[in-house]
Amino acid sequence: MQNISTRGGCSPVPFSQTLLGGLAPDGGLFLPESYPQVSREELTQWRSLTYPELAFEIVRRFATDLPDGDLRTLIFKTYTAETFGSGEITPVKTLEPGVHLLGLSNGPTLAFKDIALQLLGNLFEYALSKTGAELNILGATSGDTGSAAEYAMRGKQGIRVFMLSPHGRMSTFQRAQMYSLADPNIFNLAIESMFDDCQNIVKAVSNDRAFKEKYRIGTVNSINWSRIMAQVVYYFKGYFAVTRSNDQQVSFAVPSGNFGNICAGHVARCMGLPIKRLILATNENDVLDEFFRTGVYAPRPVADTQTTSSPSMDISRASNFERFVFDLVGRDPQKVKELWTRVEAGASFDLSKTEHFARIAEFGFVSGKSTHGDRLETIRRVWERYGVEIDTHTADGIKVGLQNRERGVPLVCLETALPIKFEATILEALGRKPSCPAQFLGLEDQPQHVTVMPPDVDRVKAFIEAHV
Ligand SMILES: *Cc1c(COP(=O)(O)O)cnc(C)c1O
Repeated sequence: MQNISTRGGCSPVPFSQTLLGGLAPDGGLFLPESYPQVSREELTQWRSLTYPELAFEIVRRFATDLPDGDLRTLIFKTYTAETFGSGEITPVKTLEPGVHLLGLSNGPTLAFKDIALQLLGNLFEYALSKTGAELNILGATSGDTGSAAEYAMRGKQGIRVFMLSPHGRMSTFQRAQMYSLADPNIFNLAIESMFDDCQNIVKAVSNDRAFKEKYRIGTVNSINWSRIMAQVVYYFKGYFAVTRSNDQQVSFAVPSGNFGNICAGHVARCMGLPIKRLILATNENDVLDEFFRTGVYAPRPVADTQTTSSPSMDISRASNFERFVFDLVGRDPQKVKELWTRVEAGASFDLSKTEHFARIAEFGFVSGKSTHGDRLETIRRVWERYGVEIDTHTADGIKVGLQNRERGVPLVCLETALPIKFEATILEALGRKPSCPAQFLGLEDQPQHVTVMPPDVDRVKAFIEAHV
């Protein structure tokens, strides 16, 4: 299986060559040249597999240039009850007949990003060990992504993580989660400024080609193909958990930001998984909802992004969306290039009157949006009716999912984080704090490892130089 770029400007490469990088050399995103097709017989066989067995069957169809034995070892090392709280890895809770919650947030940082990043950590370590190379991951975080990356890379050979965060601006829990890590390959830098400045520093360092090469600076970003690939697995797992036969269809409700999670659902559907609808939910930052309703994609400047109570969905341009549009326009790289030339110039595009958008229903997508008030109400309602505590992002998904529910089609809502991560809003909704999983009790009292510094590119560079 070769991988191609959505913009058609580079020759096909095998999986291993897409692994450590970000964008394709032509500025596009990598994607398999075709989606492997899963037959009915295979689906039936896969029904009884454990999570790691299923992950192996799926991943080996994409990562065809890694030896099966090595891949199996890496996957079985990743998806353990020890790391994900139970052997099921992604357990399903039934709220009422026909409405289910697929638990994706039982990994080390209690958010769904762990599912892909834990595998990525092991794949990176494996790839680097083949060449003896080292990688210094530099990133900026306002909370979630940074901690998931640190927990994925801690203790890994050949990898260091330098993570910038805005000093004093994360929640107590988020700080404790990141700064309590004592692994010698993890470095937390608290920058005395806002998140945007952290991100600007990362950009400035990455734009210094000589520095970047000398210190082998890399990133863990949401456009990495293997993250999408790893996420395809739980759509299959969730489907099997709520159906008895492959004749049944299921719909998934997905709280969305960068379009990574739901992109994996789209891939699963293209592989032949009987998915009826992919229900995309946004919060007040609704660029994606706007596209699926109207055909207009109008990314907004960062300054127009609202800060909401489902912060991991506060985006104004969805970095993985290009992959879906590539499929939507019939995999025409010229068309994608034309559209993204507009996007990169700060403009929007309108597919509403095209043959492509006329076919949007064939892709199964529907969408809706949720607001702070909806979130509070949904958190309350799910607690009162079912006795289940949900987080703010999951609430956005459930709200829009229920709105688009169809009679006779099971609805699987993806749970993307645990409520403990968003204490203030849960308190507002339920009048009390969320419960804290046992392994996190006392986390806030542990010693913290962090270096505070001013927003100064040279200071950050000097820190990296001194620690590699
Ligand atoms: C990242 C994140 C999302 C959004 O997922 P995308 O793949 O960016 O669409 C939703 N909920 C939570 C809790 C997240 O951390």
